[in-house]
Amino acid sequence: MPTGKIIVLTGPSGVGKGTLVKLLLARHPELYLSISATTRNPRPGEIDGKHYYFVTKEEFEQTIETGQLLEWAEYAGNYYGTPRDRVQEQIDRGRSVLLEIEVVGARQIKQAFPQTLCIFILPPSVSELERRLRGRGKDSEDAIARRLKRAQEELVASTEFDRQIVNDNLESALAEIEAAIFN
Ligand code: 5GP
Repeated sequence: MPTGKIIVLTGPSGVGKGTLVKLLLARHPELYLSISATTRNPRPGEIDGKHYYFVTKEEFEQTIETGQLLEWAEYAGNYYGTPRDRVQEQIDRGRSVLLEIEVVGARQIKQAFPQTLCIFILPPSVSELERRLRGRGKDSEDAIARRLKRAQEELVASTEFDRQIVNDNLESALAEIEAAIFN
């Protein structure tokens, strides 16, 4: 049986990665979405084990030390990381795994697995990104400011990745992602 691939979707917070992933999974249920661990507090409606594994800082640091993460990064004051075993298990079963992660983690994956397809999702503009971050009403003003600052740094890194796709229109962005993955 052929092994599965890792596919990374990266780009700034608020660019619409989550929505694109949801649509992609609905159309391609054969893909497996990796569930990350994070030290961030759950937002209203987020479920442990479904949206993230919500862990303490101590628990997260323990998983780093014991090599249980495929990649990890600090983002806007919290840790985020991809559990190694679950991804490996799916790949061994021949299933392709989708990672929706920020840029520092995406770099780590590309370095460890150079064959990985890394897609960078761009906003139509920085002002539109800011509008989307505020519009989703999920984060405090302080968190939005940290995310916007980080977004500026992340956007500069977009050309490091295999593909750059602008999320101006959901349907066309999705079609471009599908073409990159399945062609
Ligand atoms: P949020 O707090 O909005 O859920 O996520 C913040 C950022 O962390 C987003 O850009 C998201 O893609 C990224 N992220 C989520 N899970 C992981 C992970 O496992 N590793 C890394 N490096 N970034 C992640």
